[in-house]
Parts: sequence; structure tokens; C-alpha cells
Amino acid sequence: MTERRHLRIRGVVQGVGFRPFVFRLATGLGLGGLVGNDADGVFIEIEGAVGLLHQFQERLLEESPALARIDHVEWQTMTVCGDRHFSIADSSSGSGSTLLPPDQALCRQCRQELLDPRDRRYAYPFLNCTQCGPRFTIIQATPYDRPSTTMDSFPMCSECLSEYHDPANRRFHAQPNACAQCGPRLQWWQGDSMQDNGPVLDWAVQLLNSGGILAIKGLGGFHLACDADNAASVARLRQLKHRPHQPWACMARDLETLKGRVQVDEDEARLLQEPSRPIVILGGGQLAAMLPYTGLHELLLQQGPELLVMTSANPPGSPIEYRHPKKLLSMADAVLSHNRDIYVPCDDSVAFVFGGIPTLLRRSRGFAPLPIELPNALEPLLAVGGELKNTFCLTQGRQAFLSQHLGDMQNLETLETFERCLENFQRLFQVRPQAIAVDLHPAYLSRRWAERQQLPLVEVQHHHAHLAALMVEHKLTPGQELLGFCFDGTGYGPDATIWGGECLLASYSGYRRMAHLTPMPVVGGDSSIRCPYRLALTYLWACQLDDRGIECPGHEATLLRKQWELGNFVATSSMGRLFDVVSCLTGLCQKVTFEGQAAMLLQNCYDAEELGAYDFDQRWDVAELLAQVVADVAHRLAPGRISARFHRALARAIRLQAKAFGADRVGLTGGVFQNRQLLELTVHELNQVGVEALWHRQIPPNDGGIAVGQIAVAGARLS
Ligand code: ZN
Ligand code: ZN
Ligand code: FE
Repeated sequence: MTERRHLRIRGVVQGVGFRPFVFRLATGLGLGGLVGNDADGVFIEIEGAVGLLHQFQERLLEESPALARIDHVEWQTMTVCGDRHFSIADSSSGSGSTLLPPDQALCRQCRQELLDPRDRRYAYPFLNCTQCGPRFTIIQATPYDRPSTTMDSFPMCSECLSEYHDPANRRFHAQPNACAQCGPRLQWWQGDSMQDNGPVLDWAVQLLNSGGILAIKGLGGFHLACDADNAASVARLRQLKHRPHQPWACMARDLETLKGRVQVDEDEARLLQEPSRPIVILGGGQLAAMLPYTGLHELLLQQGPELLVMTSANPPGSPIEYRHPKKLLSMADAVLSHNRDIYVPCDDSVAFVFGGIPTLLRRSRGFAPLPIELPNALEPLLAVGGELKNTFCLTQGRQAFLSQHLGDMQNLETLETFERCLENFQRLFQVRPQAIAVDLHPAYLSRRWAERQQLPLVEVQHHHAHLAALMVEHKLTPGQELLGFCFDGTGYGPDATIWGGECLLASYSGYRRMAHLTPMPVVGGDSSIRCPYRLALTYLWACQLDDRGIECPGHEATLLRKQWELGNFVATSSMGRLFDVVSCLTGLCQKVTFEGQAAMLLQNCYDAEELGAYDFDQRWDVAELLAQVVADVAHRLAPGRISARFHRALARAIRLQAKAFGADRVGLTGGVFQNRQLLELTVHELNQVGVEALWHRQIPPNDGGIAVGQIAVAGARLS
């Protein structure tokens, strides 16, 4: 019996070689019909014997391309029309939604061609196929087809075109397909001139080999690069980027290069080689590294230094530069650019592996714009995140579209990027939000932006949002509660103090504050946060502890004292600040140049031989804890041992609290849980007493993840 069926397929099915796959499958089975993209995903009309149709539908699920993700298939029968041929239909537009793929690293086959002198794409930096290459950063509209990408301005040559139309070719309907004849070209910017003729790649390699600083255009923006083994170049780059201390991410020629420098376990190696190619934090924080992910990177690292510093090209606090090579000449000796436009910027993603499972600290290139599944369908909403490491989130049904990393929302440039990316997401996914979820903090730029929109606002407390994000990640349903430990730098509390060392019992719709660090005074706001010795002084005064160990210029101390006595301070229960203070007391850090520096130094010196822990009971009394630290410092105990006693005290305090509340599972969230050491100790403590620990995986524990939590809370409150 012959039948004709209409199939509707939703998921990540565009830009991943899905139509060619369907074409090959159908023609292989001798079936007629057509396949096409539309704004809802992929539709198929398929005609033939019922037995074969059954086979077709089974194999559709089993054999779909590696990068595809089928979320949903529905089908119905149609009138038979005697179709014996199968074809790929032109894309039609319309309303609806499909999932767009993220940018993908160069695949193995394309890499072989790149390095094969006999191949026609030998040394051509912009080669790609249906399994690899730029996607999200070049797509301007849906459905995803070449004319709706920034590749529209490169008409394919006859050879590329025949690949594109040949169902047996792995470039069949590869939208960014290109070669040296017809595709994007390299550009060399130096001094006042731009050249796109000549051995541009050789110049770039030479510059890097001789210690120069090169800006390189990648998939989602520019990097600043230099030879990681050239101390003078690295020092110069630090100066140019005003980043004296913050660790750099590097790009290594290959896995072997990394293994020669740092310990890389199997799970880390796998993550490094995924098509998403995140930066992976290796060797417990010794090195943050990634592998090449474009043809251009491959060529540079084959011929240039084996390890490059690769840091996103932007002045501190500004978003990544992705459009103007010329601007970068103030920071680099030359710019290696190209003429394929980046439509939206996208920074590298960052992850570490804990317990064999990756935790994303920044979810960006290679992941955005794939959605995160919500526990239930919500009305269309927007969440604008917090301030640092900002991201936004849009919902459509059960899907939460979390944006790429946008940067710290503290200036107009970041706000502009925010608006551009939001507009892009709204167009691509056709979401018209009915309300906006915002942080409680009255001064956040993201919130002030939201106040100017003509939509109802839903205020969500910062740490409630952190915990709700974790609950989404672990698929908690509405009505379920979770005891969560939200250890964080800063978050506005409803009592107008700054929270950050919190134990909350939360559902999506609400929370109760079960415990918190005893509040401590911060005099002078952000300027004191950059100077942990000032924090340490006011903490010690508030705890009535000896402050003789703190080095602070006399006039500053007098001023601080006066302000403190007058009560001119903000009270905070922040765990991040407590790390700063302990780091300062041990002598590790007096001033910081980036967020989290003091805590990082304290974590890095952790001495695993030390098995003791400070007494820190359920009252979470900071004075009690600091008294022990001060005593240890006075006895000249090594910083590594103080660090260990401190970390272990926190892990134990979480266990005690969890037991006191009778919880059988608890959540660990907030920026402080980027500290792998603390995460490991805490999970271990909890598991020992049979309490299950939930921590972050795909949604970052830091403020890059709170937009998802804001959405979940707003959705629960509005329903
Ligand atoms: Zn490929
Ligand atoms: Zn071509
Ligand atoms: Fe936070």
C-alpha cells in the first residue's frame, strides 16, 4: 500500500546538514517527496510503500547528523500524488520558530583538506561543511539559508556550487560553503593601510614568531594574541590590556602540546575537542586553554608558536570588538582580519570538569543560541540578568534562550551590544515578551533599561535567581523546594543590605532566608572592594579583633574609622568579601585588579595536607571564624594551611546546616562555587552524610546564569 505523509520536525535541524541527510535517506529507499526548511524547523513530504515509510521514519531518528538534535516529530497522512522523485524545496518563510545551531569548530575532514597540498582548499582558512563552521554569528534571519547570512555577498564559484547541489557531497547545502576562488579573504591591517593581496598568513606567522602582538578575527570577534612563551610579549600585552594579574586563556597547537605542559585527564581532553571548543581550566587552575577552532587558527598554530595567549580584544569592561579592525591598531602591532562579517559578537565559552562532568563558567560560543529546557511552558518573557558577566534570557514555551556572554553591564557600549543581541534573538526566535524580570538592585543598568520599556516588571532577588537557575538545570518542578547555598560576591537584598553568604529555602515562586553570614561593614563601596586591606580593617573592628597585622596608610585608616563610627557603611553578608578578607589577612592580597583575584589566590595556595578546619557552626558567625584566622596568622601559620582550614570550615558549615534542616539534597550556587576546591570539599562532605549535592553544569554558577533563574521565578509568579 502506498501512502504520502507530511512530517514536521522540530529541534536543531537547520544548518547541520539535515535536509541533505533526509534527501539521501529518502532516495536510498526509493521514496518520493520533498524536504524543506521553514521558520518552524524542517518539513518533509514522503511517499511510498507503508513498510518503507516506516523504515524511513525510524532511520530518521537513528541516523540523523551528529550536530542535529530532534526534539519533536509529528506526522499525518496526505493525499497520494504519485511522486517518484525526491527533492529539496526552497525555503519558505512564515511565523514560527526553529532552533539555530551554534558556531562549530572545524571538523576533522575539513581539517585534513586544509593541510593537504593536493586539495583544492589547501591552506584556505575559511573552509567549512555541513558539520562545521560559523553559524549563529553569521545568521541574520530565519530560515537559515545563505541569503540570510553574512555569506550572502560571496556568490559561489561553479565548483562550490556543484558541491552545494550534489546530494552525495558533504557540502550539499552547506550554507557558508566557500573556497579561495569565491569565498572570504584575509586582510592585513598595519599602520595606515589594509592589504588583502600577498602572503598575509606568512606576515602573521612572522609577527607572532618574532614576539609581536597580533589581533586576529575569529568566529565571534577579535582576539589579541602573542607567543605565550615569550615573557616580554606577554608583559607588553598585559600593559596594553591593563590586565596586570588576571590569568590569560591560551590556544594550543594540539592536545599533545597541552599535555606536555599541564595535566589533562580524559574528560578534559574530550571537552577540549568537542565541536563547541570551550576554554577549559586545566590542572586545577594552572592553565586555561583551548584548541584551534577555525581554519585560520589551525594555520597560525601549525606555523607559528605552539602556544598563543588568546584574549578577547576589548578594553577592560567593554564588550568584545567584532567589527572594526582599525580600532585594534592601538592595542596590537597588526590586525589579521577578513571580509566575512560577524553579525553578532560571541565570546569564547569557559568550562572546567568536576566529577567527570563539565561545568560551564561562561556559556557562549559553541552553545548559544541553543535553548535550555524549562520545567513547564511559560508565557513569553524576558529576563535582563544582573550586572557583571551579563546575559539575558527569552522564553518561548518550555524553551529558555539564554544569550551569549555580553560583558559587564557598566557602560553604554555593553548596553548597545545588549540591545543589538536582544533584537537579534527576538527576530530569530520571534518572541514578544509580555513582562521583564529584573534584579532588585535599583542601580543596575540592566534594570534601568528595563524600566524604560513599556512592560510590567517582575523583581527577582539576586540569590533567589541563582538558586532558581540551578533548579531549572536539575529539572525541579513548580511546587518543589530546594535548600540552597548561595555563595556570591554581591546581591541586593530586600532589606537594602548586600547579601552573598546565604542559605535559602526556595521554590520558583518564593524563598525563605534560613541562614546567612553575620553582616559586616563595607565602608567606601567599590573602592574598598578593590582594596581588601580596607575591608579587612572594618571587618576586624566590627568583630572586635586585633587589627595590628593590617598594613594600611594612616590617613586612610583614620578616614575609614571615622566613617565606620558614624555608621556610614553598607552591611554585607557576602561570602566573596569574606574570601577577600581572609586572603588579605594571610598576606596574599592587598589590592585586586580583577573581580575574584583575592579569592583565587587563596584557593590556589590551598594545602591539601592540612586536614583541620576552623570552628564555624550554624550561626555562621564571622567574628568567631576571623578570630581563628587572626590567631593562626599571629602564629605564622602558612597561608596554604589557613586557606585549607577556611575552605574546610565552609564545606563543613554547609553540611551542618543541611543536616539541621533535614535536607536530603541541597543546591550549591553563586560565583564562589567557581572555586573547584570548595565545590569538591562541599560535595564530599555532603555525600558522606548521605546528602545529594546539586551544582551547575550548563548554566553558569556566576551571574552569567541568573537570567534563567529570573525567568523561572517570574514565570512562576505570573502564572
Ligand atoms: Zn567540516
Ligand atoms: Zn568556490
Ligand atoms: Fe551573583
